[in-house]
Amino acid sequence: MTMELNILGTASQLPTANRNHGAYLLRWEGENILLDPGEGTQRQCVKGGLSVPAIRTICISHFHGDHCLGLPGIIQRLSLAKITEPVSILYPGEGEDFLKRLLSCSDFHQTLTLKLLPIPPEGMVFHTGKLRIEAIKLKHRIPTFGFRIVQPGGFHFDKEKLAAAGIKGKSVGILQEKGELQTDRGVVSRESVSKPVPDRVFAYVADTAPGKHLKPLMSHADLLLCETTFMENERNLAEAYDHLTTGTAAKAALENKVSFLIATHFSERYRDTRVIEKELREIFPRSYAAEDLTRFSLVLKTKILHVKTIRKSNGQAT
Ligand SMILES: [Zn+2]
Ligand SMILES: [Zn+2]
Repeated sequence: MTMELNILGTASQLPTANRNHGAYLLRWEGENILLDPGEGTQRQCVKGGLSVPAIRTICISHFHGDHCLGLPGIIQRLSLAKITEPVSILYPGEGEDFLKRLLSCSDFHQTLTLKLLPIPPEGMVFHTGKLRIEAIKLKHRIPTFGFRIVQPGGFHFDKEKLAAAGIKGKSVGILQEKGELQTDRGVVSRESVSKPVPDRVFAYVADTAPGKHLKPLMSHADLLLCETTFMENERNLAEAYDHLTTGTAAKAALENKVSFLIATHFSERYRDTRVIEKELREIFPRSYAAEDLTRFSLVLKTKILHVKTIRKSNGQAT
C-alpha cells in the first residue's frame, strides 16, 4: 500500500527557469487527485509521464493564480479524452465567479460531466472511492482551504485469537458487524480478537499564516505537503502576506507529529532550495524541499519514503 505524491511544480507567485507554478498529483488507492493546478500543469504532467485523463478529482485551495491558472488546460484535456465518469472539483464557494470564468475562458467542445463542489466557509467533507477528503479552513488573504485526505482505518482480525475463542465461519461476519458475539465461552468483543489499523493521512497545507488552525489539518499526517514560501530571515514578509517560513512550517510539523514534511511553494528569490531543506531539517529532520517533477512514494506499512525524478524525455504517460 503506497501513497504516491507527484510534484509538478514548486514555485509560488512567480515561476522560475527551474520551477513551474505549483501543482501536485496524488495517486493513492486507485484515485488520481490533482491539487492546485497552477499555470502549465498540463505540460508538466506530460513531462512527468503522468496521465491527465486519469484525473477524476481536482482540489483548489484558493483562487490566487499560482493555484488555479492551469485548470482550463486540464479540463479541456479531460474533455478531449471524452471521459464519461464525472470529474469532481472542490473549490472555495466564495470564489464561484473565478471558477466559472476558468471553466469558460476559451472555446472548446465540452463533453465532461463536472461535479462542482463549492466548499462553504466552515469547510466540508467529500468521499471519493476509498478516501475521505476534508477541506479545512486556512488563514490567507482570500478564502483558502487545506485538504486532509484520509484512508479510514479500522481493524484486522487476529486469526489465532479468533481460533482460541472458537469463532469461525459466519460468526466472524456477525462479530465484525455487531462488535460483539455471544459464544459458549461468554461474550467476545471485536477489540479482544483484533488489532486496530490507524487512519492513513495525506495533508496539503496551502498558503496560510501559522497558527492553531493547522492542527486539525496536519495532526499525525503520514505525508505532509506544506507551503514554505520564505526562509526565516524573511519572516516579516511571511507575516505581511500570510505565509509560512521554514521555521513555522517545520515547528508545526514537529508539534503535530507528522511523519514526513515535503516543502513547496518557494519564493522566486531562492535559486537553490537545498538551503531551505537544511533550515527545515534543523527543526524537523524528516523534511524535504520538493523539486519539480519528482515523486515521493511512501510505503505505508513500513513508513519508508522513496524519492525519484519523473522527468521524461519522450512524454509517454505511465
Ligand atoms: Zn500561492
Ligand atoms: Zn495565495
